[in-house]
Amino acid sequence: MNDLHTIGDLVRHHIRDIPDYPQPGILFKDITPLLADATAFAQVIEALCAPWRNHQPRIDKVVGIEARGFILAAPVALALDVGFVPVRKLGKLPAATHTQAYDLEYGEETLEVHQDAFTQGERVLLIDDVLATGGTVEAAGQLIRAAGGVVVGASVLLEITALDARARLGELSVHSLLAV
Ligand code: AMP
Repeated sequence: MNDLHTIGDLVRHHIRDIPDYPQPGILFKDITPLLADATAFAQVIEALCAPWRNHQPRIDKVVGIEARGFILAAPVALALDVGFVPVRKLGKLPAATHTQAYDLEYGEETLEVHQDAFTQGERVLLIDDVLATGGTVEAAGQLIRAAGGVVVGASVLLEITALDARARLGELSVHSLLAV
C-alpha cells in the first residue's frame, strides 16, 4: 500500500484539514487530495467495500448522501454489484419523496429520498465521507426506513470521535477507515 502501512495512514495522508470552513470553529476534512490520487482512491473504495462483500444479510442497495457521499458510494455500489440510490438535499429529486430535516455540525439540512427507491425490505449500506455528529447518517436512515429499506450499516472514510456519533446511532454497524 504505497509507503503507507495501513488504510488509516493512507486516509490521513490524503485528507487535508481546512480550518474555519465553512464557518469559524469548524476544521473541515477535505477529501479532494484523496480523490485526485487514482491509487489511493481505488484503495479506499476497496476498503469501504471490504466489510460488506460477504456480509450476512447481504447488501441490496448502496445509498450515497449528497454531495461528497455520491463520489464514494457510486464506485462502492459498482464494486459490490448492487444498485445505487441517492439521498439528496431538499428540492433536487424529481419524483415523489420522503423528507427529513436535521441539525448539522454547522447549520441545518433537509434530505430527501424517492418514495419508490427501494422494494420493501431491501437491505441498505449507507456511505458518506465524514461522520461528525451522526445527524446526517441518522436522517438518511430514517428516510431509508420510510421508503421501505432496512439499514444494515454505514461506512465512512473518517470519523470525528469527539462528536460521539456512535452513541447517537445506537446499534447501527458503522465502519470508518480512520478515527480522529
Ligand atoms: P454529521 O451529520 O454531523 O455527522 O455531519 C456529517 C456530514 O457533514 C457529512 O455529510 C460530511 O460531509 C459533513 N461534515 C460534517 N463535519 C465535517 C467536517 N469537519 N469536515 C468535512 N465534512 C464534514
